[in-house]
Amino acid sequence: MISRIINEKTIDRVRDLLSESNKIVITCHLTPDGDAIGSSLGLMHTLNAIGKSAVVVTPDMVPKNLMFLPGAKDSVAYSRHEEYAGKLLSEAELIFCLDFNESKRVDRMEQALVSAKAPKVMIDHHLHPGDFADVVISHPESSSTSMLVFRALCRLELFDCISRQAAECIFTGMMTDTGNFSYNSNEPDLYIVIAELLRKGIDKDRLFQRACNTFSESSIRLNGYALSEKMELIPDHGCSLITLNAEELKRFGYEKGDTEGLVNKPLAMPEVVWSVYLREDPTQIKISMRSKGEFPVNRVCSEVFGGGGHLNAAGAEFKGSLEDCIATLRNAMPAYDKYLPHSKKK
Ligand code: MN
Repeated sequence: MISRIINEKTIDRVRDLLSESNKIVITCHLTPDGDAIGSSLGLMHTLNAIGKSAVVVTPDMVPKNLMFLPGAKDSVAYSRHEEYAGKLLSEAELIFCLDFNESKRVDRMEQALVSAKAPKVMIDHHLHPGDFADVVISHPESSSTSMLVFRALCRLELFDCISRQAAECIFTGMMTDTGNFSYNSNEPDLYIVIAELLRKGIDKDRLFQRACNTFSESSIRLNGYALSEKMELIPDHGCSLITLNAEELKRFGYEKGDTEGLVNKPLAMPEVVWSVYLREDPTQIKISMRSKGEFPVNRVCSEVFGGGGHLNAAGAEFKGSLEDCIATLRNAMPAYDKYLPHSKKK
């Protein structure tokens, strides 16, 4: 079976907290991705299966491409239903914080979360966990939070209570955080878990199609335009830069999620070590970065833009114009040449 990476004492504490509570809120980070939603819903279904009253509260809306997941439509978005979401948080007896390491990652919901009286259990795989939670299950070596939730459920002896619906959610998180098992995916346990989820009855091919390979015509055209007209290669720094301004997004009828995965595309070129995608949103510039090998885009995001993430996948927000954001990025590039593979060093 899979290795036991979560500490026994921690599991005991979670078991005790669970036995003492009925009303449970599960929450995740702002602009939730497949792992945030998948882990949250997978945990929710399993806790409900053992008679708890668990509900998922998200800081903002579940993206369209994940709405097919069982239970997604019942989640409560704080951005839409602030009062109700706040009430759920303040009346909760136990709160799970999934796929984020710092309370600021829930954005405007932070105050409601931090001031809630319920004990908080963090399950996460980002570096440097903060201290807002009472119990911390933090494993940055794990490829997804969904995988950690599966591990925790097994250790709590709840494997048999994981339904097909829960398995679909957990699998989706594991799949989306590894680019359909194309990066961060060499951990053997990953495939043991997938086999167990398949035995629960999931259709992994359908889940891939629904979560990762469903796009509207306008979004296909927008991605084509971005790659054909807006991708700039900067060979001196092993970098690819794609920018989309507000006018361009509007022209293609941009909707949230339409450019999901775009930032990964330039990495297909051997000469591109890291890829940056800048999108001009209404109030800020959304920065996404991906890299190959040892190039630490999380360093670039945190040191230059105050964001964060993983070695090969990170992000940030920039308050200012797109032009200023591009200039800031370009100025910073030389400082990171030292992380380029040897052949690139000048
Ligand atoms: Mn994740």
